[in-house]
Amino acid sequence: MKFWVNNEIVESDEVSFHPLSTALKYGAGVFEGLRGYWNADQERLHIFRLHEHLQRLQDSAKILRFSGMPSSAELAAGMEDVLRADNIATDVHIRVQVFVDEVGGFIDAQGPVRVLISAVPMGRHNEGAGKHITVSSWRRITDSTMPPRIKSIANYENSRLALLEAQRHGYDDAVLLTADGHVSEGPGYNVFIRRGGQLITPSVTNGILEGVTRDSIIALARSLDIDVVERSIDRTELYVADEVFFVGTAGEVTPILSVDRIEVGDGQFGEMTQRLRDVYLEVARNEREDSFGWLTTVNPEEGK
Ligand code: PMP
Repeated sequence: MKFWVNNEIVESDEVSFHPLSTALKYGAGVFEGLRGYWNADQERLHIFRLHEHLQRLQDSAKILRFSGMPSSAELAAGMEDVLRADNIATDVHIRVQVFVDEVGGFIDAQGPVRVLISAVPMGRHNEGAGKHITVSSWRRITDSTMPPRIKSIANYENSRLALLEAQRHGYDDAVLLTADGHVSEGPGYNVFIRRGGQLITPSVTNGILEGVTRDSIIALARSLDIDVVERSIDRTELYVADEVFFVGTAGEVTPILSVDRIEVGDGQFGEMTQRLRDVYLEVARNEREDSFGWLTTVNPEEGK
């Protein structure tokens, strides 16, 4: 496995960090997780929403005041280089990591940043299987303490606490509420509920990561004439919803079968969830027209 590190392709065992790097001492890092979908007929890899992911990475670095970030164009080129160097011909998860790598710096260090890009094979997380989740006793971080809308590595301690607690209590996963008790999101996914004909998801001011999949599902649902509303959701709406599902790059579209052991709807994979999941995966694999211009195609031979 290879890494792109500040413009060089290196083997994974050549990547090292000083133990006193700011990133390791204080968790000063941001990242992105993207998927590449391999279309076997075309022999092409399609990166899903590359530009939106790179924009969110830039936003993450901006909010945390990192200095010396490469441009999104440089990062996109680096990503294609590492995918070709690894001869990727399968579905992959791509990670872009940005660390404040000043050795011996204090918490106010802003740079230089070290940027790593890598890809690992990743198939479907849930081939039709749903999750049983619980409302976490941990509350989602709030914008007045830690910025939830970005992918700061430090934010993920909040997610870890919620997920580990849920698993300890025999659930597959968790959903976190905001400090004021509204539904926010899962440890690594945004959440949607269906009530009657309406699809509802927490708004971007409900402590959520501004998810790329969430945005895609909203756009796809609207293109299918589904009424989508972004608003605060009460905890008990999860119990009476007809369908609940999680969305995220890695987990794609995952049905939620029960919340706090209360069955969602009839406890099965919901019809709207199934439909949106199918359409989402067809677009991502370029099996359906890319009418939103979401795919960046990597030719495995080009640039070799
Ligand atoms: N919330 C959190 C906390 C996440 O880690 C993720 C995964 N990146 C999401 C939501 C979903 O975001 P996206 O669709 O951009 O992957």
